[in-house]
Amino acid sequence: MDTKNLNFDTKLIHAGHYDEAFGSATVPIYQTSTFAFKNAEHGARCFADYDEGYIYTRINNPTIQALENSISELEKGYGGIATSSGMGACTSIYMALLDKDSHLLSTASVYGTSRGVMENHFSRFGVQSTYIDTSDLELVKKSIRPDTRVLFIETPSNPTIQLTDIKECAKIAHDNGSILVVDNTFSSPCLQNPLEMGADVVFHSLTKFINGHADVVGGIIVTKTRELYEMIRPLMISMGCNMDPHQAYLVIRGIKTLGIRMERSQQNAMKIAEWLEKNPKVDWIKYPGLKSYRQQELFRKQMKGPGAMMSFELKGGIEAGRQLMNNVRVATLAVSLGGVETLIQHPASMTHSGFSKEDREKAGITDGLVRYSVGIEDADDLIRDLEQAFESI
Ligand SMILES: *Cc1c(COP(=O)(O)O)cnc(C)c1O
Repeated sequence: MDTKNLNFDTKLIHAGHYDEAFGSATVPIYQTSTFAFKNAEHGARCFADYDEGYIYTRINNPTIQALENSISELEKGYGGIATSSGMGACTSIYMALLDKDSHLLSTASVYGTSRGVMENHFSRFGVQSTYIDTSDLELVKKSIRPDTRVLFIETPSNPTIQLTDIKECAKIAHDNGSILVVDNTFSSPCLQNPLEMGADVVFHSLTKFINGHADVVGGIIVTKTRELYEMIRPLMISMGCNMDPHQAYLVIRGIKTLGIRMERSQQNAMKIAEWLEKNPKVDWIKYPGLKSYRQQELFRKQMKGPGAMMSFELKGGIEAGRQLMNNVRVATLAVSLGGVETLIQHPASMTHSGFSKEDREKAGITDGLVRYSVGIEDADDLIRDLEQAFESI
């Protein structure tokens, strides 16, 4: 089916699917490591051009390709490259686009491992990096260097819910001859299409909103051009960051409900955010749907909805955070995000406990900050859950 002219929610169901020999309504799982060639000549043609046929699952596979085609279409790109995890996508991008002595400029509050692998490992091979507050465009202009090959942004970023202007960053990057990469995990293609705003490469941790059921770890890269696709794909294949067919099947199944999951999560998030904003035990709350959200104008300009992620600061610091974590019953105390189940996390005592208080505060992670990923449960149950847990503080 040609899905190019269909609307987003229809594309979620049909994009990337192909005509299958037996008329299967869903994409079959081709659980095979290798594919038989018709003859020697066919084998040679497959190696010369991957479009001629499948070779080996690390290189290409019909189930994985259906997922790649689907998300590439949702992100309006040239092509998709599925990976074993979000970090598989991130490191494949770094490896393909950066060289010894080249420079990466990035968001300070970017996903911790995206920063850690750069500062602790890519640095060993001579790649340089600088981490700044990319929501400050003047600072981006000042910090970009002649040797900056990649401007790498995450928006909204984690866990501070801070936005970076994609269009303006694309201009700054392109004026400098640099490539703009956007981690679009927090928004999913449902709320934001960075390639349409000038980005060159977009990637996702499929583990979060796109799969949405907390049962798969996966990643995907979508490039705007064939040239970038052909730079990144061979690196993914050589490093073995490939996805598995069963993993691809589960993500394809998850994608179909992305639209309705996001709609329900956002409705819940809005109700909960309004309730939290009025709660005397909450110092502040950051959620793009609230009028009090600092970057209201940029939010309206670049996102189609406020998403399902919020963070709030408890009066009472680290101890209050611990109390809340130990007393919620409906929300699950866990890292990750974007699933049908509501997750709660306290960065100061969990994900960021290894950092000094000073370093945490530099990244905007205060002691009472709570990260809340809103699922699709009943909003009143979630509010009652928070209400009873707040009583313990
Ligand atoms: C989870 C996450 C990643 C890493 O993805 P994995 O699938 O865990 O490897 C990267 N970026 C963001 C914003 C994430 O939330």
